[in-house]
Amino acid sequence: MERFSLINKGEILLWNNVGELKKLIDKVDSLFKNFPENFEESMSLSREIKEIIVKIDPFIDVYAKKICSKCIDICCLNKNSRYEYDDLIYILALREQFPIPDRNLEDKEPCYLLTEKGCKIPRYLRPLRCNWYFCKDLLKEMETSPARAFREFSNMFNKMLYLRQQMLNSFFQSLSNLKGF
Ligand code: SF4
Ligand code: SF4
Repeated sequence: MERFSLINKGEILLWNNVGELKKLIDKVDSLFKNFPENFEESMSLSREIKEIIVKIDPFIDVYAKKICSKCIDICCLNKNSRYEYDDLIYILALREQFPIPDRNLEDKEPCYLLTEKGCKIPRYLRPLRCNWYFCKDLLKEMETSPARAFREFSNMFNKMLYLRQQMLNSFFQSLSNLKGF
């Protein structure tokens, strides 16, 4: 198997070349598909991350529904929702489908995952940068929540970030352990 040199850090810069994006997705996917024992730890950590996001989703949703529904400058644009390599690894470690756009994307267009009813994918599959973007108004509203609820949210959020880093460390360690990589 060829040396896996395509995995970088930061934003995936292939949104104007969906063909190449698909190839990248297939390559990362093939690691989990062909070497599940090697990547067992990262897959297990990705499931823990998902569990936490699913738990905190209702807390965010209450405030987002209230504030975002009245928003006149919606932040769901392609340029704000770009996935990073970390997101891609997490989603494929979960063995979920990465939401591939059906055409090349322009930065200033509405996010390709936005529908009239809102975002078409669950929070746990959204890019980290969009998922955890709370504008001033939304954050202000969230801070009106009871102190205990906000503290719990904040603790779970930090735990999720910690697990995500663990998951990535484990992934890259497993990758370097693979013969020929
Ligand atoms: S997070 Fe803020 S800017 Fe984005 S849609 Fe909601 S209210 Fe609007
Ligand atoms: S992924 Fe969903 S929530 Fe995030 S910018 Fe796109 S439509 Fe909005």
